Amino acid sequence: MENSNTIYTFDVIVIGAGVMGSSTAYQTAKRGLRTLLLEQFDFLHHRGSSHGESRTIRATYPEDYYSEMVLESSRMWEEVEAEIGYKVYFKTNQFDMGPSDNKSLLAVVNSCRKNSIPVRVLNRDEVFQEFSGVFQIPEYWIGVVTQHGGIIKPTKAVAMFQTLGLRNGAVLRDNAQVIDITKDEETNEIVVFIGDGEKYRGRKCVITAGVWTRKLVKKVRGLELPIQPLETTVHYWKINEGHEDKFKIENGFPTFASYGEPYIYGTPSLEFPGLIKIPVHAGRACEPEDRTWAAPAALVNALREWIKGRFRDLVDGDKPVLTQSCMYSMTPDEDFVIDFLGGEFGEDAVVCGGFSGHGFKMAPVVGRIAAELVASGAAEGVDLTHFKIGRFEGNNFKGNVKEFDDQVKSH
Ligand SMILES: Cc1cc2nc3c(=O)[nH]c(=O)nc-3n(C[C@H](O)[C@H](O)[C@H](O)COP(=O)(O)OP(=O)(O)OC[C@H]3O[C@@H](n4cnc5c(N)ncnc54)[C@H](O)[C@@H]3O)c2cc1C
Repeated sequence: MENSNTIYTFDVIVIGAGVMGSSTAYQTAKRGLRTLLLEQFDFLHHRGSSHGESRTIRATYPEDYYSEMVLESSRMWEEVEAEIGYKVYFKTNQFDMGPSDNKSLLAVVNSCRKNSIPVRVLNRDEVFQEFSGVFQIPEYWIGVVTQHGGIIKPTKAVAMFQTLGLRNGAVLRDNAQVIDITKDEETNEIVVFIGDGEKYRGRKCVITAGVWTRKLVKKVRGLELPIQPLETTVHYWKINEGHEDKFKIENGFPTFASYGEPYIYGTPSLEFPGLIKIPVHAGRACEPEDRTWAAPAALVNALREWIKGRFRDLVDGDKPVLTQSCMYSMTPDEDFVIDFLGGEFGEDAVVCGGFSGHGFKMAPVVGRIAAELVASGAAEGVDLTHFKIGRFEGNNFKGNVKEFDDQVKSH
């Protein structure tokens, strides 16, 4: 006989309401599947990876299998904006720069050409002209300009997916930490146990637990996924008086990335007037419960030097005026994990994790893929080979082989 704590059966239970879980819940609900989205903390909390004011969307990837996903996501961001009736996606160009022999940057140019993404490679003087003297790069660097850049507003986007999920009939529950997941061999259902003693039944489940994915998967399947949490920081810098307009997205200032050591990225002035976001793509390996909420001095020094070199007296590079903390969930090859959980769960559970500091832009397509995997067992029009759990099997700890350096550094 069923325990009274069991709530009725869902078609899909999604675990974790960051951007990936919220997008997935919207996609499954839209397909008419009875969907439950569970979140361990408050909705829209700041302890995971999906909160804040801006995320870059760009199609410039050294790996050529991401560009098509970005283009599809870009279309889908516009579709969901039309459905909800407000904006989360602000377009601009993407500007990548770095030493002319940087392998990752050269791979970006090749991958754009392979994917028919229009790309312009500029020398130092051409970069100076292109951006009216705002960016100054060293003599031996190149600049790479593409369209398909822009900013997504993360917290607003997560709230949007949750609202659309609700509108399509999904049930959303926060402060509901999943402590175990089992398979009921008799009914073939998945049973999800919550910390407060309740449990839910579902035909399928999707785990989108961010930096908590490794722990949850280890508990329920005994499988050690190599997803390492990294604590990273975002910094905002003051644009010097009189130069604010040059950095505005509406005036064509691009989202940008600077290749080499360290990899630095940034977004135009949008969310905080007079400020520009310029962080390092790096972090400190730690457990989610062991955070410092602060940036190491060495990283801030590297940013200071970079800002003075690129923006001279246009930006106050002495110290950031605002710092925020966030988490990356890193795989060894910086590729996502999107696969069936396997084991006793077979194809009834899907895991989407390890987004390695570059997943936000892809949330619409990841949600679509996860929904198709639980609905029909296969995702259309996308090759998931690089995202399989099996790539780490045997002694292949690093996963997919790359011919260029890692972009995110652990310190
Ligand atoms: C500073 C920073 C900058 C970034 N910049 C970019 C960028 O410019 N472009 C880009 O594309 N990407 C970027 N990213 C990466 C992107 O934000 C992440 O890839 C994405 O947000 C990951 O979302 P998620 O849903 O997998 O994880 P999360 O947002 O962490 O969501 C996981 C959720 O699962 C919940 N959960 C975990 N365990 C349980 C449990 N047992 N029970 C119930 N709930 C549970 C958590 O509480 C959490 O809410 C950036 C990330 C950071 C931190």
